[in-house]
Amino acid sequence: MEVLIIGGGIIGLSSAFYLQQAGYTVTVIDRTDMQQGCSYGNAGYICPSHFVPLATPGIVRQGLKWMLNAKSPFYIKPSLSRSMISWGWQFMKSATKEHVERAAVPLRDIALLSKRLYEEWTHIPGLDFSYDPQGMLELFNSEENAHHAEHTIKDAHALGIDARLIDRATLQQMEPDTAINALGAVYFPGDAQLYPNQLMHSLMTYLRSRGVQFRGKEEVTGFINEGNRVKGVRTATNVYAADHIVVAAGVWSRDLAKELQLKIPMVGGRGYSVTLEDAPYKVRHSVILSEARVAISPMNGNKIRFGGTMEITGLNAPPRMQRVEGILESVKRYFPAYDIPLPPADQVWFGYRPCSADGLPHIGNLERYPNVTVATGHSMLGISLGAATGKLVGELVTKAPVSMDIAPFKVERFS
Ligand SMILES: Cc1cc2nc3c(=O)[nH]c(=O)nc-3n(C[C@H](O)[C@H](O)[C@H](O)COP(=O)(O)OP(=O)(O)OC[C@H]3O[C@@H](n4cnc5c(N)ncnc54)[C@H](O)[C@@H]3O)c2cc1C
Repeated sequence: MEVLIIGGGIIGLSSAFYLQQAGYTVTVIDRTDMQQGCSYGNAGYICPSHFVPLATPGIVRQGLKWMLNAKSPFYIKPSLSRSMISWGWQFMKSATKEHVERAAVPLRDIALLSKRLYEEWTHIPGLDFSYDPQGMLELFNSEENAHHAEHTIKDAHALGIDARLIDRATLQQMEPDTAINALGAVYFPGDAQLYPNQLMHSLMTYLRSRGVQFRGKEEVTGFINEGNRVKGVRTATNVYAADHIVVAAGVWSRDLAKELQLKIPMVGGRGYSVTLEDAPYKVRHSVILSEARVAISPMNGNKIRFGGTMEITGLNAPPRMQRVEGILESVKRYFPAYDIPLPPADQVWFGYRPCSADGLPHIGNLERYPNVTVATGHSMLGISLGAATGKLVGELVTKAPVSMDIAPFKVERFS
């Protein structure tokens, strides 16, 4: 049985991993050379602590304030495009306390499943991705966020997730290598960190060695349908036949879904990162700066990565270096010894998070075309939820019982 996976990001590759393991003949097709996309320059957090989706009560008001500042962590470019209006409408409808409560359990369950699977992957010869289960520190430096931290801890405990309030002195003991300017932190001992570039390269090499075929620099432009089956896909130069198709094309899945008469409201949430390959700066845990929404990731020895910004804008808009300046300036506010000059634009990475309207991924076989599986919309959590999503895709394609309840991820929920 031949499976064709559209998209060679983390979701496509982890799906390939489980499908190859199940004995299928797998081809991954991608419109790029699969070296730079969203699954590469991200912060690499495996974070069961992230059980709150992007759409929360208050985010709209806060977002409007942030929009007036070019260096702020969140920006939506006003647009009258249909896809933006449809996403914005569903996003606002989802920004409720009830939705946040409903989303928490499925987000927790898929994150815990994924973490367990990544831990299994660390034992597979040939797969290496600098997995580090040190936990994550979420720093705060405002009274408002100190108060918010207490709520976060209560909510985490209600979900069975370990979370601890850390005062300034303990924080400094946990991070002894540099002075930190923060009132305190929430420590999530159950979170982990990996080096995404290494994960992607290692997965690709591993999959190639197991016979998975890769077709780079070919863009899928349409599907070949017959009744309720999709028999293959079309690119500018080729036609690929397959028994089963997996759509794992990140934010671009939205346009492919349209070709399948399916509506997935989704936008690209652009984020930036700067990586120092041999850094004089050391942190021992993954760090989030709450007020600035910036992530600091120690990776693979001496590397350190600073990332952030959620910029909802066109997929071809030129990068805005002011946002990168905003990230680096906020790092300095919490870590006064960190002097990181703004690098030239060609040394700044950016990628588009596939932001679903309600902060939950879309994972499932299509009702109209049962031989098509969609796996997309992971927003800020594609790495964290990657291994579990691949596992679920494997189960959906092979018609095995699924490892968890996937009803909240129903692909057609906005169609
Ligand atoms: C700054 C930043 C920090 C982040 N930090 C984290 C983090 O710490 N933890 C976490 O879990 N997540 C994080 N994320 C989010 C995470 O990176 C994404 O959720 C994840 O990479 C999405 O993976 P994907 O496979 O769905 O999409 P992508 O990685 O975008 O892959 C989709 C692939 O499909 C291909 N494609 C698209 N259309 C077609 C077509 N028509 N034909 C062929 N190929 C096509 C694309 O070229 C692309 O390679 C972060 C993101 C950013 C920007």
